[in-house]
Amino acid sequence: MHRFAGELYPICRSITGDGIRQTLSMIGNRIPLTTFEVPTGTAVFDWTVPKEWNIRDAYIKGPNQKRVVDFKKCNLHVLNYSTPIRATMSLSELKPHLLTIPQNPDWIPYRTSYYKEDWGFCLSHNQMLALKDGEYEVCIDSTLEDGHLTYGECYFPGQSTDEVLISCHACHPSLANDNLSGLAVATFLAQLLSGRDRRYSHRFLFIPGTIGAVTWLARNPEAVGRIRHGLVLTGVGDKNRFHYKKSRRGNTEIDRTAAHVLTHYSESPEILEFSPYGYDERQYCSPGFNLAVGCLMRSVSASFPEYHTSADNLEFIHPRQLAESLRVCALILDVLEDNRRYRNLNPYCEPQLGRRNLYRSTGGESIGADINARLWVLNLSDGEHSLLDIAERSDLPFVAIRDAAELLFENGLLSVVAESSAREAKPNEVLPPDISPGQRNMGRRKTAAHSREAR
Ligand SMILES: [Zn+2]
Repeated sequence: MHRFAGELYPICRSITGDGIRQTLSMIGNRIPLTTFEVPTGTAVFDWTVPKEWNIRDAYIKGPNQKRVVDFKKCNLHVLNYSTPIRATMSLSELKPHLLTIPQNPDWIPYRTSYYKEDWGFCLSHNQMLALKDGEYEVCIDSTLEDGHLTYGECYFPGQSTDEVLISCHACHPSLANDNLSGLAVATFLAQLLSGRDRRYSHRFLFIPGTIGAVTWLARNPEAVGRIRHGLVLTGVGDKNRFHYKKSRRGNTEIDRTAAHVLTHYSESPEILEFSPYGYDERQYCSPGFNLAVGCLMRSVSASFPEYHTSADNLEFIHPRQLAESLRVCALILDVLEDNRRYRNLNPYCEPQLGRRNLYRSTGGESIGADINARLWVLNLSDGEHSLLDIAERSDLPFVAIRDAAELLFENGLLSVVAESSAREAKPNEVLPPDISPGQRNMGRRKTAAHSREAR
């Protein structure tokens, strides 16, 4: 993933143009990706798809005719979406168009001007202080014209048309944590899912920030209606602990799943309440949609000094942290996939587990975690509690609870109840009857079969 981020790093991306196209094409070499082109001027809710921006070169030449600021050395040097300019001007005329970070004088800021036509250069504060009075030649060889907004989708159909959405923004130029880390983890997560038989359908979106999410939501009302759970992925490559920002609803299955997985499989994670500032969860959680979409991050946007600067580079993200992030994402998808309700077929007192070789053979010593998990599953499997409910209440990892439930199911002690998401999503729907183990073939790891039959 770090190597892939390194391949994407030099590309000058923006919310439109060839940079994002090239990026999507490189992602498409790894996963089945469909790209969409939406013409400039298309109305999308309260927004309009902007003109397409492309850039070939940009520089400031000093009085000695040498390039003192050079886009070819770092694409952050140009105010992203700058209109073209070729001019000669004095330093005092140039200065209003120069952007720096005085508190971090060696870093180049990343700045944009998408919706107000302007031009400018970003440079280190020390670089600016070194500029001497004189005439400067300024060139931004860009175009801002009618064209298209481009985004990519990777869709894996599951047994159900209910969807899990993974969304990440693909519009930032040479910035690693925000958000090449998200692109790399999402791409590898899609590779992991590829070819698997899953209950849910999965949709990965690689879109320009804000306008891309607005555009996708405006163009896909039917798919929007099928989204049951979603994650925005960003800033997942740095060394900070995990942060999960809840959906606007705050207690959805994805919120509880992310919190559970992070609590059991990562060091001191922090769960954050929803706020209307951040990434594309703002659009997915706008009141008209109010989708169950949260945001998984390590460092939170705008909270770390390297954010939107040249210091968010390939040294700021790390293979180990990317790998941990991928693992957490895969675990979250697994919990969503396997979370279901069972019914204890022997609800009057405990069933005799010892007779079925499901209890310890010697009385007296304390029980192990595996037996404890079985007792929890049997006790709470009243048809109302999901495996995630049981994992939360017992404070045992979901995987232990799921494995216990599968063992008990295979031993004829549980039946499967129609899954929770369908129940929550369609309260008026007549649910199929419970499935008892006698109605299906026995075997290990029958989760996919449970789901098909339960439906
Ligand atoms: Zn950003």
